[in-house]
Amino acid sequence: MITNLETAPIVLDNNYLCPYCGANLSILGEKETDVEHVIGRRFLPKGFLDGEWNFIIRACKKCNGEKAKLEGGISVISLIDQAPAANVELRNELKRKLGKKDAITGKFRGANHPETNKPIALSGIKENIEFSFSNFKVSVALSGPPQAMKSELLLSTYHIQGFYYLIANIESNDASLTKASSEKCLFLPSNLVVPLFSLKKTDWGNVSAQELISRTSSWETCFRLVTGKGFFKCIMRRDPSKSKSPIFWALEWNNNLRIIGMIREQGQPDMVEQNLPSAKFINIDSSTRICEEIPLPEHDDTLFLI
Ligand SMILES: [Zn+2]
Repeated sequence: MITNLETAPIVLDNNYLCPYCGANLSILGEKETDVEHVIGRRFLPKGFLDGEWNFIIRACKKCNGEKAKLEGGISVISLIDQAPAANVELRNELKRKLGKKDAITGKFRGANHPETNKPIALSGIKENIEFSFSNFKVSVALSGPPQAMKSELLLSTYHIQGFYYLIANIESNDASLTKASSEKCLFLPSNLVVPLFSLKKTDWGNVSAQELISRTSSWETCFRLVTGKGFFKCIMRRDPSKSKSPIFWALEWNNNLRIIGMIREQGQPDMVEQNLPSAKFINIDSSTRICEEIPLPEHDDTLFLI
């Protein structure tokens, strides 16, 4: 088990497979590889990773670039709801990342949405819903913060592949380990990482996700991480009764977004995933329904505890 990693980063500089696509880095050559921080340096608010744990590894340039682009956008999206008005540090960080209009060109300069490539500051959801109510026709304008579900799931896959590379290739209980070397090279293909839930803080109490967390709570923790001043968390658990167990995993980004899933074959859900209760939907009309969000009281939140 690798857990409580709250010290200096672990640097692994002799891995010969890209942890994300499995490309042989020794064939690619120096120019096609990069030093990769599994938790991107700009993913958390500025300075939050200084002196804190990270995993630094070699990766191919293509994966490193694609992951950095996702992290740039999702970092901002996850902070939008999480920077309370009272927290000046986070509000300023968010403002800086969102950017502003260039006075000369009139163009907006700031972080782009990872899916639309347009500025996130201009990417809020605006949707008009019209529905009939008795004899009245009611029109509701829903607006909300920008979302990037597809990118969130993709980024969670990168993070889980990165940490899996660590637990599969480096056997150590030594939390002070800072420089690692690996003869082994076990790589986790991205199609075995199956994200199941993407939840904002307002919906951490989602009944379906909570049930899965509860069913796997007795599993053996094989990786636990709280770093970046608590703004990045990860846990992985395996069923000790099975020799080839699926792995339950969860990530928490910027004290807001949680992505929860399994490592297993696609299309082959484990027993713990069967018959999960479904989330409650509220019908707006016969064709429109919204999912009810359920916040989670802090004392009921045990996900990242051992
Ligand atoms: Zn790669």
